[in-house]
Amino acid sequence: MTGSHSVLDNNSLDNMLKIKMPAVGIDLGGTKIMIAAVNSEGIVGETIKVPTPKSPPNILNKFVELINQIKKEHLIAGIGIATPGIVDTELGIPIGATGNLPGWTDTKIKQIIESQTLLPVYVENDANAAAYAEAHTRNLKDKKCVIVLTIGTGIGGGILIDGKVFHGANHGAGHCGHIRISTDNKRLCTCGLFDCYEAYASGTGLLATAKEILANVNPSQSPLAKDLALLSNEAVFAAFTNKDLIAEKIINTWHKHLAIGMASLANALNPDCFVLGGGLCNFINYELLNEMLIDLTLPKINENLKVYKSELGYHAGMIGAAQLILDKLATVN
Ligand SMILES: [Zn+2]
Repeated sequence: MTGSHSVLDNNSLDNMLKIKMPAVGIDLGGTKIMIAAVNSEGIVGETIKVPTPKSPPNILNKFVELINQIKKEHLIAGIGIATPGIVDTELGIPIGATGNLPGWTDTKIKQIIESQTLLPVYVENDANAAAYAEAHTRNLKDKKCVIVLTIGTGIGGGILIDGKVFHGANHGAGHCGHIRISTDNKRLCTCGLFDCYEAYASGTGLLATAKEILANVNPSQSPLAKDLALLSNEAVFAAFTNKDLIAEKIINTWHKHLAIGMASLANALNPDCFVLGGGLCNFINYELLNEMLIDLTLPKINENLKVYKSELGYHAGMIGAAQLILDKLATVN
């Protein structure tokens, strides 16, 4: 009995150390790599940012170099890597949709980095990793369903069910930016399909909406109509702040587009909440969005439905990747 007690004590001590110990979190983007030591409470020490090397072998070499750099400062429990594309998380391999990173699909990230660092590695899609971090940070992991949307150039999505990333049948779940919101075949999405949610509600979609509306506006009605080739979302937001009525119409339409996609997701999944991140989440009128959501969702669905703004910003993917490997290690032992 005494013996088994001491084994248990050792195990719980081991668990405690692992929970306190940081993991390396890596967020691989098309243009830059972000990396830091992260423990269950957040980033420990400095975040390193370097440009993304051009080829998969160079990216992997850069990972190892940066991991070794962090290992000099911290005792590391494991490595979490957030990457664009659909990821087979069992094998730690991106299996599709990595257009920004030529040749990256099918790279055996987990196997290669584990063999070179002798540390356990977990690889996850970047939007899913970001979703995990948002839920972790906000203590939402005990919720039934949390949907995290990253509203930037495109729309990234991650769905958490019972605190776990929902991957679907072929690892592809959470592509919320590609639910269809119109039948017009009007806007071609980057994915090759027409009228995806992100073709309307992302930054790219907002700019397209602005140009459509301004095409029928005389520059005397709004200075935004002067030169559509030079139009930017920043100019639209600035005009909106200056009470430009056309800018108000554009922003209102953008909110409708945002709400339509969220309402479809909500009606299908009955989430406890949405968390909105990405560069554009600071420009959302959450009161207006909530009113629109109530109009577009079933009464039982919008009862207690919350919409939060991300608190993690651009670090979410990196933090989430590290927390995923830490939690995985904690459950294994
Ligand atoms: Zn699409």
